[in-house]
Amino acid sequence: MYIIGLDIGGTKVEAMLLEFRQEGNEQWQRYYLPAAQGAAAAAGYFRIVQRQRLPTQRCRSYAAIVEDMAALIQRLIGEQGIKDAEVVGLGLAAPGSIHPERQEMMAGSSGVFIGQDLTGDLQRALAWQGVVSLENDANCFAWAEAVAGVGLRFGDTIGDKTILGIILGTGVGGGVVIRGRLLSGRRGGAGEWGHCRLFPGGAPCYCGNNGCVERYLSGPGLEAQYHQQYYQQSPERPDALAIFKLAEVFEPMAIAVVKQYQRHLAQFLATLSQCFDPDVIVLGGGVSTQAVLYEELGDLLGPYLFVKEEPPTVVRHHLGDSAGGIGAALLAAAHFYAIRNR
Ligand SMILES: [Zn+2]
Repeated sequence: MYIIGLDIGGTKVEAMLLEFRQEGNEQWQRYYLPAAQGAAAAAGYFRIVQRQRLPTQRCRSYAAIVEDMAALIQRLIGEQGIKDAEVVGLGLAAPGSIHPERQEMMAGSSGVFIGQDLTGDLQRALAWQGVVSLENDANCFAWAEAVAGVGLRFGDTIGDKTILGIILGTGVGGGVVIRGRLLSGRRGGAGEWGHCRLFPGGAPCYCGNNGCVERYLSGPGLEAQYHQQYYQQSPERPDALAIFKLAEVFEPMAIAVVKQYQRHLAQFLATLSQCFDPDVIVLGGGVSTQAVLYEELGDLLGPYLFVKEEPPTVVRHHLGDSAGGIGAALLAAAHFYAIRNR
């Protein structure tokens, strides 16, 4: 069977066609979906058959974007010569908070989707009756890593674990998988900790508050710290990855900003540990690729932790930057199995 994962980003939509099977080899990726909501656990293998990207133009209307997405999906299926009936699900990862029952975007950086019936409109545009699920992109990342990435280390005990996925990218977001279930919250706002306050009276944020975690731990947040603190000495405005590179070659200003970032990250991860006491914290997003973040993190975390024994393991993502689309497809798979097994 096949499932489509669609990752809706600020600058592009990435669609991927995933094939699911019971048996696989090293070319295939293992997954383990814990039992949930009366449905039995499901396990097997998947592989990405094909992916396609589409640039998103901010000025396009909602109706035009839905048409573009439907055309992208049809092209993906058509090029593989697959019958529509073989595609059992469509999972959407969207940049916003999704109401768990209404499947509607409540808040997000792409205002065009807020309040729209995206899943219904796509089904109508495709004239197709499969399972469709819509979830926040950081929640999709956390789900993918829990059931097919980092979480595989726990095998079939994944259903007993707590895994936090944290995106450190152009923004900061995350998702919580507790005992095999993705935590959405009442209005889909669980995991939106990028807008928790790290410093009262700190840098203003687009959300209307100031001192938000995102203003310090996102890529642009790190750049702004470097720029504000050292602009006089530096004629350039390097981006986040360039700042990490400068620190590697012992540029003192970059070292100071990276060290400050590591302290802020430790403080934030300790706060989340106090809230959830997770088994694993997995980091994703562009900034998470920096090896230096994982060095000394245990020592930096220690003083901030209330329960100091066995601090949570903090690891880099396993599934790469396709985790959003993969997670969306794996959520659709979970819905499909839940319905089929009912
Ligand atoms: Zn904010």
